[in-house]
Amino acid sequence: MHTPLFINRIRLGAILGLVIICSTLHAESGVRIALSSHKVNQGDTIKVEILTRKALDQGTIKLNGHTFSVFRNPNKTSRLNYSHRYIGYVGISRKLKPRRYLLDFSLKYLDKTRYKTQFKLWVKDGRFKKEHITLSKKKKSIQRDYSTLGNENATLKKAITPLIRKKLFNYPFILPVKGRLSSPYGGMRIYNNRPAWSHSGIDIAAPKGTPIKAANSGKVTLVDSFKVHGNTLVIDHGFGITTIYNHLEKAVVKVGDRVRKGQIVGHVGSTGVATGPHVHWGLTVGRIRVNPRVWLTNRNLYDY
Ligand SMILES: [Zn+2]
Repeated sequence: MHTPLFINRIRLGAILGLVIICSTLHAESGVRIALSSHKVNQGDTIKVEILTRKALDQGTIKLNGHTFSVFRNPNKTSRLNYSHRYIGYVGISRKLKPRRYLLDFSLKYLDKTRYKTQFKLWVKDGRFKKEHITLSKKKKSIQRDYSTLGNENATLKKAITPLIRKKLFNYPFILPVKGRLSSPYGGMRIYNNRPAWSHSGIDIAAPKGTPIKAANSGKVTLVDSFKVHGNTLVIDHGFGITTIYNHLEKAVVKVGDRVRKGQIVGHVGSTGVATGPHVHWGLTVGRIRVNPRVWLTNRNLYDY
């Protein structure tokens, strides 16, 4: 089903003399690359499939100075002559300015030869909402304690640097808590009338003590207590994907634990800077915080 479309695009591109932007074929180079989309919103994720004739030593995809890894896809390829399959995910930051970008592909083969190419990518405005939040004096002073926040972010950055090179997740990611979506992804947070930052995940409000489930299978890379982010848990799902859970009453797993999708990993609380019991749920792709909701429904991100 995929093949005729692929060929049609190539033919159409050749007939019209256009740059082929969605899929490409470099017969002489022995590389096929296909993007799940070349027009995306801020906060989206792109899946990249790479087929090669020779085995790769390393592959990277660069967007606006940020590097994403390429992983070996163990599934067999049906395409003749392309015996090696790879996959990469590119996270589109909510802060990436809407405009045209170039995705830079750099492939290094085991035989030391290299292959480079570029794809055009259009990033559109995510149309995020503005959110006014009133904090008490005490919470405001914690929230504006930038050195504490800086330290917490540095610790979190390490935890969201994914190390697992195989895929531990499967379709779909699930909401960690059943509850009311109290704050969407990307909204500009205005604390006590001062614009602060945009929301890096989604907030789900639920009564204190409600069980929190692992959004997908993976390995726990962080369990910690923070002043701003509250009690926090991070799970590495492989292929560059992690999920973050903040403001927990408590976590019931420890670093290094393997968890299954749906397994209870903690309970809802309002630790850290929070205006009520909720879980802040974040999803990162190559350390970029993307809109986790996209991963609940977009099957294209999973099918290989
Ligand atoms: Zn939040």
